[in-house]
Amino acid sequence: MEARRRLRGQRHHGKGNKVRPDFERLLADVERGLIDVVVAQEWPRLERNRTDGVRVIETAQRCEILLTFAKGPDIDCTNAMGRLAADLYSAIARNEIEVKGERQSRAQLQRARQGRPPKGQRPVGYATNGDVVEHEAAAIREVFRLFAVADGTTIAGLAAALSGKEGPQVPKSVPRLPRHTRTVMIERNARRVAEGLPPKPVPDDGKWSTSTIVSILRNPRYAGYSVYTNRLDRTKNKRQTWYAQIVKDDDGEPVRGQWEPIVDELTWWRVQERLNEPSRVTNRTGSTTRKHLGSGLYRCGHCEQRVRTNGERYRCEDCGINRTRRHVDDWVLRLIRERLSRPDLADTIPTGDEPRLKAIAADIATRQAKIKRATADYDNEIIEGYDLKRVRERENTAIASLETERRALTATTDLGGVLDAEDPVTAFDDADLMIKRRVIDFFVTVKIHPHPRGSKTFNPATVEVVPKQLG
Ligand SMILES: [Zn+2]
Repeated sequence: MEARRRLRGQRHHGKGNKVRPDFERLLADVERGLIDVVVAQEWPRLERNRTDGVRVIETAQRCEILLTFAKGPDIDCTNAMGRLAADLYSAIARNEIEVKGERQSRAQLQRARQGRPPKGQRPVGYATNGDVVEHEAAAIREVFRLFAVADGTTIAGLAAALSGKEGPQVPKSVPRLPRHTRTVMIERNARRVAEGLPPKPVPDDGKWSTSTIVSILRNPRYAGYSVYTNRLDRTKNKRQTWYAQIVKDDDGEPVRGQWEPIVDELTWWRVQERLNEPSRVTNRTGSTTRKHLGSGLYRCGHCEQRVRTNGERYRCEDCGINRTRRHVDDWVLRLIRERLSRPDLADTIPTGDEPRLKAIAADIATRQAKIKRATADYDNEIIEGYDLKRVRERENTAIASLETERRALTATTDLGGVLDAEDPVTAFDDADLMIKRRVIDFFVTVKIHPHPRGSKTFNPATVEVVPKQLG
């Protein structure tokens, strides 16, 4: 009597160290003498790495069984000749996998250099052959446009708009689209059915995720740049990889894709700049609101990448540099307050309308002097109390409206009016987190170094605060 076991669907690609329960059960059953013959599609389906191959061979030898394949000759592991054959199959199969991988990435790079659309899943807005899918492209165009004009459009708002939601933060001009994974699966199923294959489950039409929106905004293909991703050397910092994906020709110029751009280059680059702004840099969940002063703003002193918050600490994910948030923040805030209290501060303020701002400042100073004089006159019994009150009310009302105008004029600096406030230090302390981050980013670059173990006192040299060139 012969017990047969068929191994199906044991894909050999992917991680080589994954446990395959069916494979383990097969080996155990062979060991227990329950199986005499193993039937597999081909050798690579059975072994996935050197270790698995050797285990199959040794088990087959010990239990004197026959390995038989739909593709390729049998391996009779009851003799030395059969075992040698098994070993050779294993080596050849692995080599083929490697060569195939290399050939594929070479072919893809070649395609990219010629500006041909990359193979693989189509992006939103383009068909697999690179043609524009117009109703999707319209949505993409609007998403880019809104994000580039920086009118307060958030990534979460764009995700909600594509999902068909409404709300105060949700732009109305973005057309609703079904989720791309769903669209792609429906299209794939149509092809499968045409080929006589059963359809696969279609994902629900849920909400667009903010991370998908960021991937769209980061994709150079929309600006007509040819792209190539080397799967073998993806760097850890995903934010940089988008630029790295743009294929350059021999002169270092970006290669143009043979497809129609959906957004113009200027818009695309403006969007990249906006995404890079540390005050609104996206964290891994795509949220643009920050809870901590330095996360995504301070840099690792070793590798220069931006640190993230990890509990009560700032941490570089790659170097493992880890510093208590409070210690770093206290030091940075102290230096910023010191900078804001310097008398040369006014010279560093970027302004929209210089002459008008000067006139406003002079006007405010004149009115404040009038109040002072009236107060002195009252003290010297030159004027009555009600006269002083009248002067104060009149001048303070005028000053308040001048200050409102000044805030509006300087709002373009995005620094919340901190720099040109009467008392910049207090204005800074009163400002919200986003403004504080912008002010810090305006003046300095903060780099975090490890703190010596066992040292109790804070060493300022371990938090490098580098002034920025202004003006
Ligand atoms: Zn680092």
